[in-house]
Amino acid sequence: NGERSSIGDGDPVVPLPLSNDSRWSDTSTYARKKALQFWVQLPNGNWELGKVLSTSGEESVIKLLEGKVLKVTSESLVPANPDILDGVDDLMQLSYLNEPAVLYNLEYRYNQDMIYTKAGPVLVAVNPFKEVPLYGNRNIEAYRNRSNESPHVYAIADTAIREMIRDEVNQSIIISGESGAGKTETAKIAMQYLAALGGGSGIEYEILKTNPILEAFGNAKTLRNDNSSRFGKLIEIHFSETGKISGAKIQTFLLEKSRVVQCAEGERSYHIFYQLCAGASPTLREKLHLTSAKEYKYLRQSNCYSINGVDDAERFHAVQEALDIVHVSKEDQESVFAMLAAVLWLGNVSFTIIDNENHVEPEPDESLSTVAKLIGCNINELKLALSKRNMRVGNDNIVQKLTLSQAIDARDALAKSIYACLFDWLVEQINKSLAVGKRRTGRSISILDIYGFESFNKNSFEQFCINYANERLQQHFNRHLFKLEQEEYIQDGIDWTRVDFEDNQHCLGLFEKKPLGLLSLLDEESTFPNGTDLTLANKLKEHLNANSCFRGDRGKAFTVSHYAGEVTYETTGFLEKNRDLLHSDSIQLLSSCSCHLPQAFASSMLIQSEKPVVGPLYKAGGADSQRLSVATKFKGQLFQLMQRLGNTTPHFIRCIKPNNVQSPGLYEQGIVLQQLRCCGVLEVVRISRSGFPTRMSHQKFSRRYGFLLLESIAAKDPLSVSVAILHQFHILPEMYQVGYTKLFFRTGQIGVLEDTRNRT
Ligand code: ATP
Ligand code: MG
Repeated sequence: NGERSSIGDGDPVVPLPLSNDSRWSDTSTYARKKALQFWVQLPNGNWELGKVLSTSGEESVIKLLEGKVLKVTSESLVPANPDILDGVDDLMQLSYLNEPAVLYNLEYRYNQDMIYTKAGPVLVAVNPFKEVPLYGNRNIEAYRNRSNESPHVYAIADTAIREMIRDEVNQSIIISGESGAGKTETAKIAMQYLAALGGGSGIEYEILKTNPILEAFGNAKTLRNDNSSRFGKLIEIHFSETGKISGAKIQTFLLEKSRVVQCAEGERSYHIFYQLCAGASPTLREKLHLTSAKEYKYLRQSNCYSINGVDDAERFHAVQEALDIVHVSKEDQESVFAMLAAVLWLGNVSFTIIDNENHVEPEPDESLSTVAKLIGCNINELKLALSKRNMRVGNDNIVQKLTLSQAIDARDALAKSIYACLFDWLVEQINKSLAVGKRRTGRSISILDIYGFESFNKNSFEQFCINYANERLQQHFNRHLFKLEQEEYIQDGIDWTRVDFEDNQHCLGLFEKKPLGLLSLLDEESTFPNGTDLTLANKLKEHLNANSCFRGDRGKAFTVSHYAGEVTYETTGFLEKNRDLLHSDSIQLLSSCSCHLPQAFASSMLIQSEKPVVGPLYKAGGADSQRLSVATKFKGQLFQLMQRLGNTTPHFIRCIKPNNVQSPGLYEQGIVLQQLRCCGVLEVVRISRSGFPTRMSHQKFSRRYGFLLLESIAAKDPLSVSVAILHQFHILPEMYQVGYTKLFFRTGQIGVLEDTRNRT
């Protein structure tokens, strides 16, 4: 059913001796005799080194390093690498390439603060959770002049720049990993390197300053990460023909809006709220009628106000400074802070029941009047927007009073919309400041920092979207590393053993098929005024149960088999989150405001609803605005993202967190192994080492290195010139293959040629 595909099935492919690589999980007698040490898996799942004392029949007696003696089945022994291979900087260099060997190698390096390791073409970064002496100008310089060649984000960024210039192709650096694994830090480290190499115009300084702003508004403390990004980000850095940074553009994905009005015990809302409360000057406090964070219900509910080692007031000043640098005027900054204060005060608006049908009106207190003042609207209109709803039924306008829970929803929806619009507005301002201008002749390097695969005890709409995005990115990764490579070998007549690889097309189909896929069915149910989370769950079960990646579960739940494992989603809240309704009354309220930000927000919401529609439109509750559903909008963004990435040469960085408690020096094998499996690192190593990852057309190769030939040759065609060059440089026959149109090399072979070329 397409779950596993095999490239080259049916093709007359002759296996290469080298790709018959038994070292992956070699438990052959031969390996067992040759290896002096073995890995033994203990009942707790951890692997330990041991030596065989004796073997009888199917059983072996093993002595662990620390002295313990165990009896195990011989088959369960996994050969260990000789000590000389301890801590190699590319997993591909390991003689025995098995899971414990990979785990041990990463741990060995990690313990010496060597947090970066190559896995063939992929960079693995293990989060140190402490400062490591690997960054800064001296290190940047060392990578720039190639005096340091150990794996590093800098080396990846350096390759990206060089390939952008050499091949005239846009590049992308795709960073993935679980929450807390280090994606955002890694993205910043890559940006630092690009800024250092492509700097000069000053714009690079602005680009770096977007980080504290976006983190303040889009990051929050969660149980997994004190600085967790609650949005995805793609930053496209543009370079001029001379290799200097000329500007940048930021695109964000799916900000977690719900956090503004609701967050779990021990977590925080967005940093900026606490920063504002702690750091605003007395004048600003007075203007915004600010009090302390503890006075605001939205911030109070999770019972967590501070982060260890973080001074919110200090951070606030840094954000103000960064806003100055990206040219957000002082007036605009004040408007931004006013919107934040308005959101906080909205959360304090309470309601009183006014009749026996549970209809309510907002309490006419300090919070209500402050909100009205901050957004610049009439207090009565605010009251109306929070207690009544205009509905259009046929040709008639009717006014419906809201019940307590409806009013609370309306209030929270308004708060969430103001915040989300504010976030988008800020990104837009930043983009204006970083804009490249009309002459976009140069090339770009994009850095993608996007939430990794999530699987919690309870998974909701957010995980549904995030995991869908990861499924797409995984396909990009698979296709790039496995499928495209192999197809290229086969097309060019190069020997290649058929390699099975995981393809997740089937799972993606479950999401994307029309009309019977998860997203279509979700949107359809969202358009039905009577649709509920339960009817959605039933509908999914009815139509999708035949799909092997889908399983209907008890009650309102369903399970999807993702590439990284099974996840059970609770449909509770799905429809509401997908509809993301803001009543037209609230939009009208914002457009009637005298302040310019609320007006801008209202018009952006209206524009959004008038946009040409790609997906299904829905209309709920008469006069409510028509907008794209959240899932459809997200899918559109994702397609656009994939299209953009499709036109780039990708560089993959996989971030790994060695423990779940954000602690330095703690490496938990089980946690690391599960992540290595999820992101395909183990599979990559196995496949890459038996391949020829570097390739160049005969033409290009002969043009690039032809002048290095010491003796002239008779035939001048690109192929003959290329072969002559290979001979002159004594490139070993097993290190390359000559295809119909291209030359294929094992890793590291082109290096000598490049060096000679650069010296000449
Ligand atoms: P999320 O998905 O929640 O946004 P993330 O993958 O972006 O998580 P980061 O915020 O980048 O994770 O990293 C979490 C923390 O780990 C950082 O705040 C920092 O303390 C530490 N960390 C990550 N990378 C490094 C590094 N290279 N050096 C030192 N500390 C690091
Ligand atoms: Mg992050």
